[in-house]
Amino acid sequence: MMTSFKDEVLSRRTFAIISHPDAGKTTLTEQLLLFGGAIRAAGTVKGKKTGKFATSDWMEIEKQRGISVTSSVMQFEYAGKRVNILDTPGHQDFSEDTYRTLMAVDSAVMIIDAAKGIEAQTIKLFKVCRMRGIPIFTFINKLDRQGKTPLELLAELEEVLGIESYPMNWPIGMGKEFLGIYDRYHHRIEQFRVEEDDRFLPLNENGELDGNYGIKENTLYDQAIEEIMLLDEAGNEFSEENIANGTLTPVFFGSALTNFGVQTFLETYLQFAPSPQPRKADVGEIEPTSEEFSGFVFKIQANMNPAHRDRIAFVRICSGKFERGMNVTLSRTGKQMKLSQSTQFLADDRSTVDAAVSGDIIGLYDTGTYQIGDTITSGKNLIHFEKLPQFTPELFVRVSAKNVMKQKSFHKGINQLVQEGAIQLYRTYRTEDYILGAVGQLQFEVFEHRMKNEYNSDVIMESIGSKIPRWIDEDQVDESLSSSRSLLVKDRYDKPLFLFENDFALRWFSDKHPEIKLSNPME
Ligand code: GDP
Repeated sequence: MMTSFKDEVLSRRTFAIISHPDAGKTTLTEQLLLFGGAIRAAGTVKGKKTGKFATSDWMEIEKQRGISVTSSVMQFEYAGKRVNILDTPGHQDFSEDTYRTLMAVDSAVMIIDAAKGIEAQTIKLFKVCRMRGIPIFTFINKLDRQGKTPLELLAELEEVLGIESYPMNWPIGMGKEFLGIYDRYHHRIEQFRVEEDDRFLPLNENGELDGNYGIKENTLYDQAIEEIMLLDEAGNEFSEENIANGTLTPVFFGSALTNFGVQTFLETYLQFAPSPQPRKADVGEIEPTSEEFSGFVFKIQANMNPAHRDRIAFVRICSGKFERGMNVTLSRTGKQMKLSQSTQFLADDRSTVDAAVSGDIIGLYDTGTYQIGDTITSGKNLIHFEKLPQFTPELFVRVSAKNVMKQKSFHKGINQLVQEGAIQLYRTYRTEDYILGAVGQLQFEVFEHRMKNEYNSDVIMESIGSKIPRWIDEDQVDESLSSSRSLLVKDRYDKPLFLFENDFALRWFSDKHPEIKLSNPME
């Protein structure tokens, strides 16, 4: 049966998984891909992160990334839905790219380690999702181990992240005494480590088990029933609307490693996760089902093959259908291009995409044509999608050319990499020293490597540590206020800002100079 273009679009579910390293993102992703039949055995998504490497060992990162290029986007079909999972690399790989990836999805899955609760990285990524108002689904992982109590975990969601939650299911016991989950949504109990036939037990209209089931003998069952009653009375109400606007997160408990609760999660997730959503552009909202092709570049990844030096620009399709060989225009320059070389992303191999629709991600070979945030369209009307937000850098280095005779390639390289969105650039007043800002250490390492390999420029980088950037009005620039604790610089658009050494320096400064308005437009 031929599916119409509209049905194709409506079948898409595009999301990213956000979590702190080690919460179980790789494990869960693998299970999802197994259900989708995209991979055949666990352990194929990434080389296992066993061999610890120094973050400065770029070659090692390169190898790792060489693999993660292909798994940047994973696609599979399940229950009539076409699922795209976008990878948001964890720790060493943490960079602005990670944040920008969240601009290209329609929902997010947040994994929390039941023993650790909400961790630093999760908070950062959560904030970006919150800013976009996209639905967030929570999977609380590792129930096969002893962890915090489910009530504690829910309280953390509300206190630390400030999001209301609705448990779709509830654990019965935990760790060695993990018996299963009470599934409020499907009105059944799903038993842990029980064969297929007996795994699911139906609940009666009072929400309890009828019949002679062993699990009823256990006091943990009674405890779960009590907690469920408490949730029914005092907890949040289920609301599809609040899930959709991102103010209520449905919570699922499970164990990715033992593949428990994952399928239930996937099926329920697919039911409530949004299909591709309209995107804001300068001409108004662009509907995903409108026929004219359009998309925007949210990430540019340098190809790790130094012999080729090509890059891949990741494009989120926002409307229409991509077809190989089609002609598009780059809105920023008005340049026409034929999209012949493109890659589609699957877990196993990188194969050439033939057709992709709104919600899908395509990778285009890039020889320097694209910039982060670029719009491409097949229409005559050169629309521009909303600017991608910049993210507040936290780490800073002073940078200069090792060889003073090679200033030209140094400047060329920096300018191009800054334009591409690889790193943020600031300059001091008068001396015009270059300072780079990043959200993660890896960005500096990638920068250094690319300067050397692509622009033949060795750089000297001297860390000046973490800083808190705050912008000021141009007419309030006063160079005498610049010090090492509050360094006055300008950004790439010549807008002035202070880099404060820490919270204390920031507070001290604002107490002393209440007339100077400090702002952070990125938050
Ligand atoms: P990532 O860094 O978020 O991708 O985390 P991984 O998926 O690599 O998992 C980190 C570690 O936690 C690995 O040793 C996994 O085997 C383990 N792990 C993942 N899920 C579970 C789970 O449900 N239970 C237990 N006990 N361990 C898990």
